[in-house]
Amino acid sequence: MMTLFTVLIIILIIVIVVCVVLLMRLSGQESQFMEVSDRYLKDIGKSYTKNKFAMTIYELYRDIIDGVQQENYEFLRDVLSDEIYNNYLIGIKLSKERQIKNVVSDMKPVFAKLVNLVVNGDTEIAKVWIRVSYIEYALDMTPLTEEQMKIVTGERIVSGSKTNRMEKEYILTLVKTHTPKESVVCPTCGYVSDVIIRNRCVRCGTDVVQRRFHWVIVGKEEKPLSR
Ligand SMILES: [Zn+2]
Repeated sequence: MMTLFTVLIIILIIVIVVCVVLLMRLSGQESQFMEVSDRYLKDIGKSYTKNKFAMTIYELYRDIIDGVQQENYEFLRDVLSDEIYNNYLIGIKLSKERQIKNVVSDMKPVFAKLVNLVVNGDTEIAKVWIRVSYIEYALDMTPLTEEQMKIVTGERIVSGSKTNRMEKEYILTLVKTHTPKESVVCPTCGYVSDVIIRNRCVRCGTDVVQRRFHWVIVGKEEKPLSR
């Protein structure tokens, strides 16, 4: 009688363990995203590969971070939705009020993956999962008195570090109006863009497309670091 009870308890424990392992696996899969295949992109008429697209979007993100620091409003307005653009504007304004200068430098991609690209009516929606590595710190920009200037030399770092690299992951959502053929040839210099992310030619600055015909970032969601 006692041994039957022990056997039942052991079976119950095994069942619980198996269930827990299965659940952990399932939730683990949920936080991972499958990459879109090059075959699929070809099938929907795209001339770029998933890697080309994802790297172009990573470079766009890096340029946006530079654009925020250089206050390149015209560029930011062109590549961001109104909501995200306004959020960056608020951030810039707050830093100015607090006399803080945020510096993000030496950004590198850890990875960039195209995880979704769908054509929905006359709209195309893409999701790109990026992990970036960078240096971030904030400088105190309040003016110093003559007395203080004698003591304080060099930059006043108030947060972050000039030596420790940070890593973050984001899911970027982008939209554009659907066009059967995406490549655009610049009428002035002949430069061919496969993944169009600006209204202007990246080489000579000629206007090549309207905003609705190039990818615009409409969502930026931070994701917990994977693995
Ligand atoms: Zn051009």
